[in-house]
Amino acid sequence: MTSTTASDPVCGMQVDPQTAVAVEHAGHVYHFCESACADTFRDDPGRWIPRDETVEA
Ligand SMILES: [Zn+2]
Repeated sequence: MTSTTASDPVCGMQVDPQTAVAVEHAGHVYHFCESACADTFRDDPGRWIPRDETVEA
């Protein structure tokens, strides 16, 4: 019953956290479809992090 999915913030793919590449950044774990996306994220995390709760007016 734990069929949660995660979004790859780089390419937008839905990924399975069980098999995805996990990267921890600023206390949050992000999941990626492949290591290439994870490397892209590590290169510039601020560019890829969804800002759903930190909206600046
Ligand atoms: Zn990806």
